[in-house]
Amino acid sequence: MEDDGSRSEAAGRAAAIVGAGPAGLYALAALVREERFDRIDVFEAAPAPYGLVRYGVAPDHPKTRNISRVLARGFEHTRVRFLGNVSVGRDVTVDELRAGYDAVVVSTGMLGDRRLGIPGEDLPGSYGASELVAWYTGHPEAGDVSLPDGLTSATVIGAGNVALDIARILAKDATALRSTSMPRYVVDALAASTVTDIHLVARRGPAQAKFTSPELHELGALDAVDLVVDPADLVLGPADEEAVAHDRHAKVTVDVCREWAERPATGAPRRIHLHYWRRPARILGDDAVTGIELEPTRPGGEALSLPTQLVVRAIGYHGRPIPGLPFDESSGTIPSQDGRVLNDGATLAGVYVTGWLRRGPTGVIATNRGDANEVAESVLADLDTLPERPSDPDSVDKLLAERGVRVVTWADWLRLEAHEKATGDAAGGDPIVVHDLATALEVIDAAG
Ligand SMILES: Cc1cc2nc3c(=O)[nH]c(=O)nc-3n(C[C@H](O)[C@H](O)[C@H](O)COP(=O)(O)OP(=O)(O)OC[C@H]3O[C@@H](n4cnc5c(N)ncnc54)[C@H](O)[C@@H]3O)c2cc1C
Repeated sequence: MEDDGSRSEAAGRAAAIVGAGPAGLYALAALVREERFDRIDVFEAAPAPYGLVRYGVAPDHPKTRNISRVLARGFEHTRVRFLGNVSVGRDVTVDELRAGYDAVVVSTGMLGDRRLGIPGEDLPGSYGASELVAWYTGHPEAGDVSLPDGLTSATVIGAGNVALDIARILAKDATALRSTSMPRYVVDALAASTVTDIHLVARRGPAQAKFTSPELHELGALDAVDLVVDPADLVLGPADEEAVAHDRHAKVTVDVCREWAERPATGAPRRIHLHYWRRPARILGDDAVTGIELEPTRPGGEALSLPTQLVVRAIGYHGRPIPGLPFDESSGTIPSQDGRVLNDGATLAGVYVTGWLRRGPTGVIATNRGDANEVAESVLADLDTLPERPSDPDSVDKLLAERGVRVVTWADWLRLEAHEKATGDAAGGDPIVVHDLATALEVIDAAG
């Protein structure tokens, strides 16, 4: 740290960041840069950093996942620590953190899915996107996900990139997934999949879809997959024509879909069907999903009943409350002003929120950088006026030790990462994610 006036003011200052996803790690970078904290501790529930970059971004998009190298830089500083495998709210409370740190920045993202609120949603074979994504990226807390036996038809609800990721992963020849970071048992399950038809269902038309063009083009270029689009869905009303005339994004999506609608079928073994202007009305089945009923969302549209054994709703992620912090159930976010957490309209001194938990599940990874920089500015602006904290960060370390929490340090993570790289190298591909906590800890101990 520089030996100037700010140093003496900053002496002994400590910050906690909760959640080591992009938002938390961009906030870390901004706080480290300003050198006002002597100690910054990053608490993370998973045994590994990077949040949805590791457990969300599709494994067949390694370039995007490589942003983790940039996010890791904050940990090069000696005054920064990683405390992985520590879940705030479970292993340590927010109040305990507030006692030990001058500032607490919460960036726990969104873990759950919005619901459709239709009959059949809880049948076996019906999943939220976050469950399926956690499974194929190897999240240690992924639930019990499996592709249904005899799967021939899968339905993905949603018109954003998460829906495209899921459709693509389901449609892709699994040979192409063997060189990715996916746990091997997931690749094996996908290789054994008998799915032939994947239906993408969008509530509105192509001019309003949130798909981005690289992902759309990628879908259209998949080997051994035919794209099926009903030309009737591409007949646009005046408002859509207007959107296409003025919005490049809308035009690209419409153009790509028109090109797909004109493509002759090649007899490929798998098909992706795009259904615009429809929403699910009911998921059918007694003991498991057997079909789905779609209803039209524009006048003159027709209802559609599809046999399907797998339904994935990719209609948006939704946050979960953190005990001890206010929470807006409708948006799934923590109320805030310039990143300062608000409790019934009043500022909760020294507590900040950034990332998806602040602004909702929108934007790309880089969007979190601007968000985190803003919040870091608020933290730094407040620093001199924050109330004296009653304890120091060691009090939190002691609590974790007393509670027997096995903290995964940065050095531990680097050991796990080296192991993942070695297994990936041996298989001739990307590092392979260790998907369960017990194995991750064994790997760390064996290497330590
Ligand atoms: C399926 C999917 C694919 C995506 N693909 C792309 C893409 O290709 N390109 C792109 O630009 N963007 C993509 N995004 C968006 C991008 O991942 C998000 O913008 C970004 O990850 C949000 O950052 P965040 O830090 O707010 O949340 P997250 O990345 O979710 O990070 C939150 C972190 O907090 C941790 N945490 C949660 N609860 C606790 C707790 N109680 N205690 C401690 N830690 C906790 C979590 O384990 C996690 O590590 C994708 C998103 C999804 C869902």
